[in-house]
Amino acid sequence: MKEKLVIYWARRDFRLRDNRALLSAVLNAKKENIKFLPVFIIEPYMTQGNPKEQFGYPSRYFLSKAIPLFSKNFKQFLLIKEKPASFFLKLAKTYELEIYVNEDVYPDFYKQLKKIKNSSINIKLFRDQITVDKNTKTSMKDIYSVFTPFKKAVWQSFINEKEDKIPSFEGLSFFNPENFKFKTLNPKNQKEILALFSDKESILIDSEVINLKDILNTNRNLENNYFSEEEALNHFRKFLKNKLSKYDEKRDYLDNENTSRMSLALAWGLVSSRTLVKLIQKHFKKNFENPLSFLESDKGPLQFISELIWREFYKYLLFHNPNLLNKPFQKKFENIKWINQKEALERFKLWIKGETGYAIVDAAMNELQATGYMHNRARMIVSSILTKNLGVSWLWGQEYFREMLIDLDEASNNGGWQWGASVGADPKPIRIFNPYLQASNYDPDNVYQNKWLSKEYLTNPPKPIIEHKDARELALERYGLSKNIKNRNY
Ligand code: FAD
Repeated sequence: MKEKLVIYWARRDFRLRDNRALLSAVLNAKKENIKFLPVFIIEPYMTQGNPKEQFGYPSRYFLSKAIPLFSKNFKQFLLIKEKPASFFLKLAKTYELEIYVNEDVYPDFYKQLKKIKNSSINIKLFRDQITVDKNTKTSMKDIYSVFTPFKKAVWQSFINEKEDKIPSFEGLSFFNPENFKFKTLNPKNQKEILALFSDKESILIDSEVINLKDILNTNRNLENNYFSEEEALNHFRKFLKNKLSKYDEKRDYLDNENTSRMSLALAWGLVSSRTLVKLIQKHFKKNFENPLSFLESDKGPLQFISELIWREFYKYLLFHNPNLLNKPFQKKFENIKWINQKEALERFKLWIKGETGYAIVDAAMNELQATGYMHNRARMIVSSILTKNLGVSWLWGQEYFREMLIDLDEASNNGGWQWGASVGADPKPIRIFNPYLQASNYDPDNVYQNKWLSKEYLTNPPKPIIEHKDARELALERYGLSKNIKNRNY
């Protein structure tokens, strides 16, 4: 008889609190008296130099910091560089495995899962990164394609979803991975983990590889981010106490201090969205059953919960339409006539470097380079400008963000890009942002622009690549829309 082994397969869930797969794995291992082993698998695609697949530098950096911190919670922790399915198959030759994993919504996860299931390995999935039921349907049994009705449909279940407690490891017997015959890695050493990855920083745009090291010019400081569950929760508690009640009024202002900065924590699972909701409910001593409350004091928390549901919505859409990573949600926009490739590449590189001549865009692109983060309003502006004003495909922008964001969430990134390009699940007609109006509305005192633009830029700003007044007509033409279409001045 094979020895039994309970495995908790950590993926994007570096936390103890409200970690459904982890809690179940621990409880079962204790109940059945089976040895327990938490595992993180560095998958080949994350580390290879293939620019379409490898993790961007901020993601690699995050992992190299987060894995050592997370692994400290456990007596034993296995870090391994392998393909998940082939690793588990090898292990299953010697052990009878029970694998516990939090489900995510990406196509690649399901490919691995299929292989594991086909080999009759016992793998248990837990709904985690997405809190709502991903099979939620309209009364006509369709998938929701508009945010507001989706939000109404899931609101109650989202705010009432229970949070799991922190598992106790007392009485749990850990498996020592040194017993394995294959090569394991040291999960405690940040430098060694970082060295597993390629040191290339490049993106593949159509058939052209762009080496970002050649064109990025700002020194990065990723150290200012947080990397553990405890730090993320502390960060959120401060936001809850000092900022959340005014979140609805202030979140769009580009001064970074007005939003929660929880995207990093949610993207990597340092906290769950359920925990954030429970902390909000506890702080305000109410449940927020009614998403339409007119009480002033409810507006901040309600808006915040609504943003958390945007995150759910994009995961839901991607789960049901994996093609969205390459194709627009609105089929009528599959054949937009983007500008010719040579000119597009030139403009794209200027956009990356923060040299478009639209100060607000350039400031935002510099923020991204320097920190791995960009404010939401700024993400909306730069995506609109790249696609509408510069005539460059949203797929290129999506690719650059994939490489550069430390809070990369494929579904939100994809949803955000589709929204910014006006090709996504958004019932509004095309939105063409005016970069000057956006700047005066959301950075009225130039605080953000002064922070992220150099002195030389501010004293001698470059000319815009294309005058904004010409951009609207050109964009409508490219999108195949009538010039008479009514759209607000955004
Ligand atoms: P807060 O305003 O404090 O919001 C709280 C949380 O709600 C966020 O942490 C996030 O989880 C969620 N949220 C807020 N706005 C959105 C939104 N528009 N869509 C989905 N979820 C939202 N978010 C990511 O987490 N990862 C990405 O890779 C990503 N790429 C984006 C790309 C583009 C082009 C655009 C327009 C948006 C993108 N977003 C992405 C959404 C949003 O910009 C970030 O979630 C937000 O800026 C993070 O800052 P915060 O945590 O302070 O947000």
